[in-house]
Amino acid sequence: MKKIDLGKLVRPSVCGLRAYSAKEIPCKVKLDANESPYAYDSRKIAKLAAAIRTNRYPDPESRELRKAAGKRFGVSSENILQGNGSDELIYYLIAAFSGPVLFPVPTFSMYGIISRALGETDIAVPLDGEFDIDLERTLRVVKKEKPKLIFLSSPNNPTGNCFSSERILKIIETSKGIIVVDEAYQPFSSEKGFLPLLKDYPNLVIMRTLSKIGLAALRVGFLIADPQIIREVNKVRLPFNVNSFSQAIATAALKDRGLDSAIRNIVSERNRLFLAMAKIDGIKPYPSEANFVLFEVKDPVATYNALLKKGVLVRNLADSMKGCLRVTVGTPEENTVFLKALKECAI
Ligand code: PMP
Repeated sequence: MKKIDLGKLVRPSVCGLRAYSAKEIPCKVKLDANESPYAYDSRKIAKLAAAIRTNRYPDPESRELRKAAGKRFGVSSENILQGNGSDELIYYLIAAFSGPVLFPVPTFSMYGIISRALGETDIAVPLDGEFDIDLERTLRVVKKEKPKLIFLSSPNNPTGNCFSSERILKIIETSKGIIVVDEAYQPFSSEKGFLPLLKDYPNLVIMRTLSKIGLAALRVGFLIADPQIIREVNKVRLPFNVNSFSQAIATAALKDRGLDSAIRNIVSERNRLFLAMAKIDGIKPYPSEANFVLFEVKDPVATYNALLKKGVLVRNLADSMKGCLRVTVGTPEENTVFLKALKECAI
């Protein structure tokens, strides 16, 4: 058979990458991926799916979906760009604007992974001791490296806190680049977020996703920004990026607000989890504004394995936050199983 030297063909920036691995680990209680434990009504889904004609392409512009999202976020459809999850929108942003791409660390890994996949320079600036933006250092790097894009996940994954809004504002005001405030976890936060400031800052982009509020299977995310920015990013979007099923179900869920009560349950369970975890010897949970709790343990690998042995899957953050694990808020029953298992492991 003919031999080819793939190493010479593959883009050099891709050669050194490793594929994103999201292994399926069998477990009874799945609390590792920041998903919602509550799904959208399956009868409504069946009805919506039955109306879809699979021989036709989806609406390339997801018009109904963008209209429903616009209503939800208090903006016009022109301010919204739809994505196959916000991961895809991160890809589009970097493809459209290029690097350098700056972000604080630890944070969501895809900002760096996608920058590198596209051959763009990524600049990671460590957070301060309170998991907040190190403003002085960030502004220094912004001045020197002039990043075209800055990603700020607030609430931040995996730390769970919101960054100080004054610091975010200072960066928006100082930088000549695009600031993306990734509000994937905003529905669980007590802070109001950055949507109200969109009108004041033409370089501000808000990113939202439906993945954390019960629709992860659909892969739907949104950019919300000035129409000028939306038009530029839309140029690199693939024509039918959100499929017909996702468009129909996400539109219905945004309109009927069928997932809102689940958000309230998750917030109240998160607060219960935090308080109960704080009482366990050897466990240090960090306050969270998201649908997960970051916690420090003496031996994260042993605790992770012991929890898994009891059927509870959490996220081991060995790569990004030494000594820490992250647990997603589940149903009250799941959280009780987790707490019982954690108490037994911590002994
Ligand atoms: N941003 C942050 C901060 C996240 O934690 C995640 C998911 N882990 C995403 C974006 C990606 O979400 P989506 O499912 O919409 O691609």
